[in-house]
Amino acid sequence: QEFGEISIKDIDQVAKTSFPLCMRHLFEKVKEDHHLKHGGRMQLGLFLKGVGLKLDDALAFWKAEFAPKVSAERFDKEYAYNIRHNYGREGKRTDYTPYSCQKIISVTLGIGDHHGCPYRHFSEENLRAALVRMGVSSRAVEDVMDKVHNRHYQLACTLTFEAVHGSSYDAGINHPNQYFIDSQRVLQS
Ligand code: SF4
Repeated sequence: QEFGEISIKDIDQVAKTSFPLCMRHLFEKVKEDHHLKHGGRMQLGLFLKGVGLKLDDALAFWKAEFAPKVSAERFDKEYAYNIRHNYGREGKRTDYTPYSCQKIISVTLGIGDHHGCPYRHFSEENLRAALVRMGVSSRAVEDVMDKVHNRHYQLACTLTFEAVHGSSYDAGINHPNQYFIDSQRVLQS
């Protein structure tokens, strides 16, 4: 899963080009709301760790995004621990791994949750709009929706990858970090 490092200054750019829809959505939401509930913080936070965001940068990222709503003092008290925990620096010091698609697809969402898999959890209307925002052509959107209707969410995500990158992708998406790594490979080749 390793693909070098990513620094805070590059994160907006790579979010646009190389994040799968589940992570784009969380990333946009934290920028918009300056907050994310626990499930969203875990899903995006572990993904960012897998992408190569170092612990110090992760702390700086969340602190800055939450700043309009959460004071530095409260952040350090209520949120920093969990972030360090995800990086294996607290508690049992387990190094937590980013979630797979299977895990993300199978979550049950509560009110105000933005994590999960958009192909599985978005309304059809919201999913179509999100795909158009990603630059997926109307024809490809229909192909994606076809997979969604048949509950082939990872295939829908794979078709999105192909549409956005203009290249075929035989492997099939089974992990958000795989989507990221292969996107960067395509874009840098
Ligand atoms: Fe994310 Fe996987 Fe769903 Fe794609 S299929 S949006 S990578 S959870």
